[in-house]
Amino acid sequence: MDKQYRPIIQIMWHLNNECNLQCRHCYIKNQSRIPVDRLDFQLKAIDRIIELCEYYSLIRVGLLGGEPLLDPNIFTIIKHLNDVGVRRVDIGTNATLIDFKCAKQIASLNVKMVQISLEGHNSEVNDQVRGTGSFKKSIHGLRLLRNCGIDVGIMTTVSKFNLQYIENIVNMAEREGAKLIAFNRMLPIGKGKGGMLIPLESHEMKEMMRLIHSLNDSRSIEVTSDDPLLYVPVDGRILSSSELGGCGAGIGNLAICHNGDVFPCRRLPIVVGNISDSSLLDIINSEKMDCFYDRKSFLKGYCAECDFRQICGGCRAAAYAYTGDHHGHDPQCWRISTVYKGGD
Ligand code: SF4
Ligand code: SF4
Repeated sequence: MDKQYRPIIQIMWHLNNECNLQCRHCYIKNQSRIPVDRLDFQLKAIDRIIELCEYYSLIRVGLLGGEPLLDPNIFTIIKHLNDVGVRRVDIGTNATLIDFKCAKQIASLNVKMVQISLEGHNSEVNDQVRGTGSFKKSIHGLRLLRNCGIDVGIMTTVSKFNLQYIENIVNMAEREGAKLIAFNRMLPIGKGKGGMLIPLESHEMKEMMRLIHSLNDSRSIEVTSDDPLLYVPVDGRILSSSELGGCGAGIGNLAICHNGDVFPCRRLPIVVGNISDSSLLDIINSEKMDCFYDRKSFLKGYCAECDFRQICGGCRAAAYAYTGDHHGHDPQCWRISTVYKGGD
């Protein structure tokens, strides 16, 4: 493959590390609540993104945190990204800080979608994970955004605790006029390691995927997941036959941290470069990234032998979180117990 055209199509930019909430599953362990002004550094990061735009036209930039709406420069950054021709800018937020002025400001910028994290369909469930009073504030923010005409998506991190509420969460998302609802698995990383929340076992991952498929079929809202196991047949179904899909770590995705460190995926804590001393293009083309493009040579364990290696590839962050080796198999995959180990 011509390395100049490795298909990075979206950048998840974690603008800051600060957050006003302390969610139980957050991948960041130690967070401050006090906003830090990093504008000079952020403008350099935009220059790095511009360089990349010379090679890729399909770039989506997701602005995340921490809590990105705590960042004093977020609206300046969005304006710059619009000016340099980034095609799509999204914001991922807990939405608790959104007031009418903020919603109007977002509406005046070219933001495609605001993705709001919620872990339950009501205060009773959500607030056990995200903190007392957070559900009401997030829903208030969501409604302000909707009233300003902004498309909203909901993101839910699924553990054993809230697997049982998936259908209720879809009902809530439909009622609130969200465009999509995405369910992704919780990993034992950051604050989620050894805490109250317990990650799904493989049979529960299968149940989650089965629910996502059936609810997506029966509802008007898009019910989806970023998880590579979405592309693995559940009850004989196949959703995609793309040549290299599934886990987007380092392939479709790159994550830039608030300090410039670059990761293949924010949940995979392997630094592949820093934008202070390398261009994003050099990082994408570096040897450290070869393993994400060449699953045949690099994957190990059950994922290496699997028929779905190319369309799924297993979550590399899960492999790392459970085994310490991001080339290893995905321990939360149900095929490992059903096909390889002769389970049920
Ligand atoms: S490593 Fe896991 S969380 Fe990250 S892109 Fe791949 S599947 Fe998604
Ligand atoms: S064994 Fe790995 S590649 Fe195969 S379906 Fe499971 S996670 Fe995906």
